[in-house]
Amino acid sequence: MNVVLLGIPGSGKGTQANFLKKRLKLKAILTGDLLREAVEKGTKLGEDAKEFMEKGDLVPDQIILDLIEEKIKEQKNFSGFVLDGFPRTLTQAEGLDLLLERTGKSLDYAIKLNLPKERVLKRLEGRLVCPFCEAFYNLETNPPKKDLLCDFCTKKLIRRSDDKKDLIATRIQVYQKKTEPVEDYYQKQGKLKIVDGDAKADLVFERILAVLKK
Ligand SMILES: [Zn+2]
Repeated sequence: MNVVLLGIPGSGKGTQANFLKKRLKLKAILTGDLLREAVEKGTKLGEDAKEFMEKGDLVPDQIILDLIEEKIKEQKNFSGFVLDGFPRTLTQAEGLDLLLERTGKSLDYAIKLNLPKERVLKRLEGRLVCPFCEAFYNLETNPPKKDLLCDFCTKKLIRRSDDKKDLIATRIQVYQKKTEPVEDYYQKQGKLKIVDGDAKADLVFERILAVLKK
């Protein structure tokens, strides 16, 4: 089963991608990680990507598509993939379809985690991290078991400092402008499934599973 995750920044895509990876044995392909990994390994694609990144430019779609293609081809022990962070634009979505066609695969579902912008901003306020083992929590969606202490090492949790609300608000605007057309694209293909993302992470995952079983 091959799946794309959509949803505004902060809607919980990363967490759900991780669930899909662990419980359905899908290969999780995160574009941010792909680029980092290729640059670190110094592959040809990594070198190409690095040139753009060092200039502060966006890495061209084709490089990202080639990286995704590599990942998809090496997924022998997986029952499919879940893409998080791609496609972000209509052009990328079309490019992905061409890639899949060429490799004899196809996308089964585009799952959109639906969460109002206001709820995302509220959630961001509740993001916590353990200063010791760096485990992430969220007061609303993934609270620690006891008080504000880490489940693993019982250190006191602190607020995540990278949660600049303005930055996220801007990223949400970009999503609405550039990525909402991607939702329409998959809607027309009959692949878009909208899942209510306004719940704790494991309940949202149950909702995703229910959609995938249909
Ligand atoms: Zn900890």
